Amino acid sequence: MEVINMDIFNKTYTMTIDGKAVSSDRMIKVINPANEEVIASAPDAKKEDLDAAVRAAKNAFQGWSHKTIEERSDFLCRLGDAIDKHKKEFMNLLTLEQGKPRSGADWEISGSIYWCKEIAKQRLDVEVIEETPEHIVERHHTPLGVVGAITPWNFPVLLAIWKIAPALMAGNTVVLKPSPYTPLCTLKLGEIAREILPNGVLNIVSGGNELGQWITEYPEVSKVSFTGSTETGKKVMQSGASNLKRVTLELGGNDAAIVLPDVDPKAIAKDLFWASFQNSAQFCVVCKRLYVHEDVYDEVLHELVEYAKTVKVGDGSDPESDLGPIQNRMQYEKVVGLIEDTKQIGAKIALGGQVEKHPGYFVPVTIVDNPPEDSRVVIEEAFGPVLPILKYRDYDEVVERANSTPYGLAGSIWGKNLTLAKVIAERLETGTVWINEVHVFSPSIPFGGHKQSGIGIENSLDGLAEYTNSKTIMVNKK
Ligand code: NAD
Repeated sequence: MEVINMDIFNKTYTMTIDGKAVSSDRMIKVINPANEEVIASAPDAKKEDLDAAVRAAKNAFQGWSHKTIEERSDFLCRLGDAIDKHKKEFMNLLTLEQGKPRSGADWEISGSIYWCKEIAKQRLDVEVIEETPEHIVERHHTPLGVVGAITPWNFPVLLAIWKIAPALMAGNTVVLKPSPYTPLCTLKLGEIAREILPNGVLNIVSGGNELGQWITEYPEVSKVSFTGSTETGKKVMQSGASNLKRVTLELGGNDAAIVLPDVDPKAIAKDLFWASFQNSAQFCVVCKRLYVHEDVYDEVLHELVEYAKTVKVGDGSDPESDLGPIQNRMQYEKVVGLIEDTKQIGAKIALGGQVEKHPGYFVPVTIVDNPPEDSRVVIEEAFGPVLPILKYRDYDEVVERANSTPYGLAGSIWGKNLTLAKVIAERLETGTVWINEVHVFSPSIPFGGHKQSGIGIENSLDGLAEYTNSKTIMVNKK
């Protein structure tokens, strides 16, 4: 097992407010989910800390928004370079606080660097809507002011960059709060940004759910960009109503994957596995319901189980581990409860299901063989490695079953008949549909949920535009 360098923990983690290190007399203990040991403490911000952060962001707004787009782009590239310089430290810290294996940590930190560089190239140019000798109509994009950003614990660094990069490029200043379960990498990011960005442009405050609520209520915060559960997303929208905050909400999902009868079960098993269990299924867009046509159901189930047996669940710092633990006790208990419920209703468990008691929030890869459509394991978002595989007969039926959820985040279709796959894709009520691939993201591809999976878009020029007001300027030239 690789021994993770602990040097970076021989120091205190501090918030970044107005370009300065700020601590608190209240601290949150951060737990390594692989062994349940405390790895470090993070400040638990008080209301006064948030007041100072919002004030700093507000004061920095004029200077930052008046910089040229090229200047802001340059700052963002330098932030990407600084993450790159500390890549190994970030990866180590991410594995320790989040639990993900080395490959997952590499993917997330490399992605964060890439996003900084690519978002830095995006431009919302002035658009001439109409021009005649007498009249000109232009559309401009103006920044909003102070953006409050709130992130979850599954991809703490990448999801923070998905908010910081476009918010800053568009000319806003930011106050960001990470999840209390995974604050360390984000605090480290703030520390690095202190050396690069003007004071007050990016403020990082750490604390519990109450701190998140204060941000959403804050009158001087113009927009909240939130990634987390649907339940919390509704609260964000409610408290943001006080000053009609703009909101971008990236919320929960219960994504369906639909397997057509023309697949080669053996060839597809690996892809279906990773579509469903990436990041130990603590991923908003993993397949959470796998619908397989009855002609190939038995074979697909068999091949999926055989492939799953080759995958190692273990401490993320062990290079042999393919999947890490569940990130925190609350989520672990929820996933274990779902497995218990599945057993109690008598559904057949094709693999896993036995949770061993040892330090660390480990749950074995669990595959449930055709449980009832109304069972909890089918209708709830597990956010852990428990997958129901479900048999279907005809396409109308499977589309109806896939759509019968309040969620609408993403979905995937697997098969050789691309015409049929595209017809089904058009009928799925989700923001993204992948065909014969999954989890493809890019700074230039719009991502967002339908129904109760969210409001708004992240990534692409549409995502960048969400950090601006649209402003129309009309000139009568006569
Ligand atoms: P969560 O909703 O419990 O917490 C998310 C963040 O919100 C945390 O920082 C938390 O402290 C904060 N928070 C909690 N209560 C708040 C309140 N009342 N006001 C403001 N902020 C508050 O979610 P989680 O458990 O951290 O993350 C898992 C969820 O996130 C899953 O449902 C998953 O599907 C979703 N998710 C969605 C996406 C997406 O892009 N759609 C991406 C990742 C995760």
